[in-house]
Amino acid sequence: MNVHDSDRMSDVMRGHGWKSADTIDEADVVVFNTCSVREKAEQKLRSEVGKLAPLKLSRPDLVIVVAGCVAQQEGEKLLGRIAHLDVVVGPDNVVELPDLVMAQLGGAPRVARTVFDIDAPRFLPAAPRAGEAPVTAFVTTMKGCDERCSFCVVPYTRGPERYRPAREIVDDVARWVDAGAREVLLLGQTVDSFRDPALPPPASDDPDETQFPELLRLIAREVPRLGRLRYTSPHPRHLTPSLARAHAEIDVLARHVHMPVQSGSDRILKRMIRRYTRAEYLERVRRLQAARDGLTLSTDIIVGFPGETEDDFAQTLSLVEEAGFTSLYGFAYSPRPHTPALRLADDVSESEKSERLARLFEVIDAQQVRYLATLAGTVQQVLVEGASKSEKGDLGKGRVQGRTDRNEIVHIDVEDAAALVGEIVETRIVRSNRRSLAGELVHPPPPRPRPLASLKRVLPVVVA
Ligand code: SF4
Repeated sequence: MNVHDSDRMSDVMRGHGWKSADTIDEADVVVFNTCSVREKAEQKLRSEVGKLAPLKLSRPDLVIVVAGCVAQQEGEKLLGRIAHLDVVVGPDNVVELPDLVMAQLGGAPRVARTVFDIDAPRFLPAAPRAGEAPVTAFVTTMKGCDERCSFCVVPYTRGPERYRPAREIVDDVARWVDAGAREVLLLGQTVDSFRDPALPPPASDDPDETQFPELLRLIAREVPRLGRLRYTSPHPRHLTPSLARAHAEIDVLARHVHMPVQSGSDRILKRMIRRYTRAEYLERVRRLQAARDGLTLSTDIIVGFPGETEDDFAQTLSLVEEAGFTSLYGFAYSPRPHTPALRLADDVSESEKSERLARLFEVIDAQQVRYLATLAGTVQQVLVEGASKSEKGDLGKGRVQGRTDRNEIVHIDVEDAAALVGEIVETRIVRSNRRSLAGELVHPPPPRPRPLASLKRVLPVVVA
């Protein structure tokens, strides 16, 4: 979400004639985009912005901006705490960024703009330049969140749910595909809660039923050149039979769903206010697995939530096995400002949290290794993303890396790496590694006339 927001900020600034700078020394404006989900976000931000104090002293006309969730969360207080900060801008006010910067250059007082656009939500359209689209483009479907998970700061920093009109979403997807993107990742805090009165009504009167399946159908129908469609993150509540049916019917939908569960214990799920039980979550897992042959799932898990006992944690471990996740993101609980869980005692010690996290990773690592081994010898459709990073992190010469439609990473040795970027290639899996696969091309892909997709994504944190 934040990478996507950075891109939109870059687009907005470019639209007003600004260009990205290579270094901070060359920049006239520096924008820090921030995330407050993890601990100590504000301290990290203050330390990063603090490093610019000498530069600001020597160049008082340098405009320093803080954007994103920490900006929204702290607002004007940030201006009080960081003397050389000029502008604080919340996620809903990004469109005002160029004007705010110009006002600073004209001598206006320092300013914080953190107003939610509740009555008239604004979604910035993508402005991809032909040939510069990434292989995977991000498209926003909604903003905010109406859930109240007790550990989460998002409803506070992003406000209530507002949905983007389906027409705008489809147009954005088409623009990205025309510019060279092969895959689109639909983004929303609870992406499957999507509603739009212009779409056919939900499939049933079930209050958890939404129009997200219709949105998926519309995209698949209207953008036939799209290679792959993914979405993140669904709330399990809305993983209804009609969404599972969409997985059975829409070929372009990836055979992988990332569905956060957070805990395997009903007691903890209740304290987290997740609004589903372990059994209901597992029912949705089975529903998805039954809808599409070979569909895999990944998840998010928080360990050490207030009150989590050894027995609660054991239930999380058993759920990881029962659901058969192929990967997961695990986090140790940390109290976040403005969250309901602050009222609960943070009573699991840091050493217990670390120990449980290590045990969780041990279980998922073993599960992942076993799963990847089952793919050796199979043929997979791999979307090539770019030059390969070896498991040690160095760039492999003549080696590309891509993903199957189930999100497994595959490294392939090829003659001409650049020519394959953005292609979906038939690949035989020759070996499984700890976290990835090694494959060889079954046959070279047919040439496809299209703009060249760029090899790397630029994170525009520095704007000049
Ligand atoms: S669903 Fe829960 S965890 Fe996800 S953004 Fe909303 S409040 Fe946060």
